[in-house]
Amino acid sequence: MSEAIRFLAPRQDVLSRRAAIVADLADLLPIECLVQDARGLAPFETDAFVSYRRVPLAVALPETTAQVAAVLKYCHRFNVPVVPRGAGTSLSGGAIPQEDAVVLCLSKMARILELDYANRTATLQAGVTNLRISEAAAIDGFFYAPDPSSQLACTIGGNIGMNSGGAHCLKYGVTTNNLLGVKMVLVDGTVIELGGKHLDAAGYDLLGLVCGSEGQLGVVTEATVRLIAKPEGARPVLFGFDTCEQAGACVTDIIASGIIPVAIEFMDKPAIEICEAFAKAGYPLDVGALLIVEVEGSEAEMDAVLDSIVEIAGRHAVKTVRQCQSPTEAALIWKGRKSAFGATGRIADYICMDGTVPLGKLSHVLNRTAEIVESYGLRVANVFHAGDGNMHPLILFNANDPEDAARAEAAGNDILKLCVDVGGCLTGEHGVGIEKRDLMRHQYSAIDLAQQMAVRAAFDEKWLLNPSKVFPLDGRT
Ligand SMILES: Cc1cc2nc3c(=O)[nH]c(=O)nc-3n(C[C@H](O)[C@H](O)[C@H](O)COP(=O)(O)OP(=O)(O)OC[C@H]3O[C@@H](n4cnc5c(N)ncnc54)[C@H](O)[C@@H]3O)c2cc1C
Repeated sequence: MSEAIRFLAPRQDVLSRRAAIVADLADLLPIECLVQDARGLAPFETDAFVSYRRVPLAVALPETTAQVAAVLKYCHRFNVPVVPRGAGTSLSGGAIPQEDAVVLCLSKMARILELDYANRTATLQAGVTNLRISEAAAIDGFFYAPDPSSQLACTIGGNIGMNSGGAHCLKYGVTTNNLLGVKMVLVDGTVIELGGKHLDAAGYDLLGLVCGSEGQLGVVTEATVRLIAKPEGARPVLFGFDTCEQAGACVTDIIASGIIPVAIEFMDKPAIEICEAFAKAGYPLDVGALLIVEVEGSEAEMDAVLDSIVEIAGRHAVKTVRQCQSPTEAALIWKGRKSAFGATGRIADYICMDGTVPLGKLSHVLNRTAEIVESYGLRVANVFHAGDGNMHPLILFNANDPEDAARAEAAGNDILKLCVDVGGCLTGEHGVGIEKRDLMRHQYSAIDLAQQMAVRAAFDEKWLLNPSKVFPLDGRT
């Protein structure tokens, strides 16, 4: 078993009381809200990180905040670990259960509670999927900005857990910038509310702390998020370059010029070929790197901003500039980009890294990434949110070959360390989970980590909520 997917030793006392715990949970929940048989538990054994599986003790599928509170109160009293879960699309192993844990899955809490245009907010139960928010508000001319590529499936609760981002976050920010309030159940069953429909809150920014806390500070049952009015128009434009260096330098210069497009997405040659073969989006195949730059506003505004961007791209020997001519073409361009992970999965097994670097280091990190992956005898495709400096090298390997898998993991670790070493960070949007837990020591000093763990323990003294994630297993205070 890979080092990366170790768990804390299961609590034997909990395992030995499984039948009694399941019987007690059955008293707290309607019969259809508790999964305990092997077949029913199977879909909850893993998430999107690896095909690694572990059967949890039971799965609770509550329908109300009161039921969430009852389950947490019980588990807290009897020292049963709890793994909160949305749709299980985490790419860092954040939702993988452990065998002594009850999975608390919010998928049945999927009602849109309110669309409040006067305050430009939507209030939702935690199991509402990301895309449904924008779909619900679209008829009134509004949308929810953070758009993970998994938005058809992933939930707002999971987005909050991971502080998720997406292609269109360059202009509007990631989840934390669009989250206004939550209803959350603490580990002992206490229900609290943080934030609201107002812009800021008095006192400590606990809402900011909860966003990205990977299910370790409490279980979010409701969220209030910001709605944004749809722009008059939006236009993605393709810029093809001979080399990744040229494309990377162009991104840096666009941002340095003060222009903030809605999105600047980057694909290297392997990624272009993989996505084009899948989506037939019309990406140029004779270039070494491609930028998808989207601008929005009135026609005149888009023309003016695009003129400036084309001028900057010209300074970096841009080879192809293709403006899309219709909404259908725009949708295809985005389909190609947003299907990148799935399309890659068609040709090889892969692990998706998620480091963030200062924009000025993009070209350097891309070059070093290629060298690192090659030194392990593997291949890489890069497709990522370049405007945010959020890189996603997809390292291709053969999952049936344990040595190949170990090499891919080692290459991934080297790349993430590189991101930290150039002044960046271990994660841009996928969270730490299990995957980057041990690398936290590379990012933080022992004192920094101890401070974070002290905060975590202030919410959950017994370390029952998602206990094997985020922090090195042997480093807990
Ligand atoms: C094909 C693909 C593409 C992706 N693209 C993107 C992308 O573009 N951008 C991006 O940011 N991510 C992306 N992801 C990763 C993933 O979709 C996000 O991390 C997403 O936010 C997870 O949501 P989920 O509902 O699946 O949560 P889960 O995977 O179930 O859980 C994620 C974390 O949140 C916690 N959690 C879940 N629900 C709650 C709750 N109600 N209260 C407290 N904690 C909770 C869990 O304990 C876990 O730590 C992608 C994944 C896939 C498979």
